[in-house]
Amino acid sequence: MKKVLFIIFLAVLFIPVFEVRAGATPVKILLVPGHDNEIWGAQYGNIKEANMNLALATRLYNLLKKDRRFEVHITRDDEGYVEEFADYFSKKREDILAFKENAKKEMQNKIANGNFIEKENVFHNTVSENTSIILYGLNKWANENKMDAVIHVHFNDYPRPTKWTMGKYKGFAIYMPDGQMANWKESGQLAANIFMQLNKKYITSTYKKELGGLVPDQKLIALGSNGTLLPSVRSILVEYGYIYRFGNSATRHKAYNEMANFTFAGLKNYFFKK
Ligand SMILES: [Zn+2]
Repeated sequence: MKKVLFIIFLAVLFIPVFEVRAGATPVKILLVPGHDNEIWGAQYGNIKEANMNLALATRLYNLLKKDRRFEVHITRDDEGYVEEFADYFSKKREDILAFKENAKKEMQNKIANGNFIEKENVFHNTVSENTSIILYGLNKWANENKMDAVIHVHFNDYPRPTKWTMGKYKGFAIYMPDGQMANWKESGQLAANIFMQLNKKYITSTYKKELGGLVPDQKLIALGSNGTLLPSVRSILVEYGYIYRFGNSATRHKAYNEMANFTFAGLKNYFFKK
């Protein structure tokens, strides 16, 4: 009798654990702290954008890591690209180039056939071949590894006379795929959920082309330009603020935590709030 009770006890003990493990598969998130140690994006005085992106993305990573409903991946840490991605970019270089060239060809055909209408987008710097391999490589990886969402983390800037002066714009903007892109709808909803959280504390960008704060775009590789992200891979690129607004170290570190918390709340609302 005692043995039977013990077995029942054990069974009860293990049921919830089993349910968590065998239940809903976790939501897979890829965090991409924008730029890297070689090409660090914007700069204000000694502050480099790539480091800010990493600091914020790392906080978000730690929040997601603690929540078992998510499976989280990040491309970089303090030492550069993490092994999985560094290996992928070097070993799959040829495959990534083919993936990119095929996608571009297909898009050219669509445009020629009138199946895709090109729009004027916010101006983006053209990226080097290496950067484009990294960005297309991440899309290829995200498709293959069935990511549910890719979050690109950035701080903003615009052309200014010197990197030591304050600029005139402020506020955040979330770039999302244009309505003709396969992953636009779900990405847009995710963007809206994160927008609502960030907007509790931060104003939206005062830069003319980012007014409203939600910016559709069809040229950013990060969002799946040239049809390089599957419909199931949501992707957004968040410009959390203009870099020169975060010159003060205390302000900056406080902002990282708040922005990570808001983004985490937006992700939870989108994926789990019914
Ligand atoms: Zn950037």
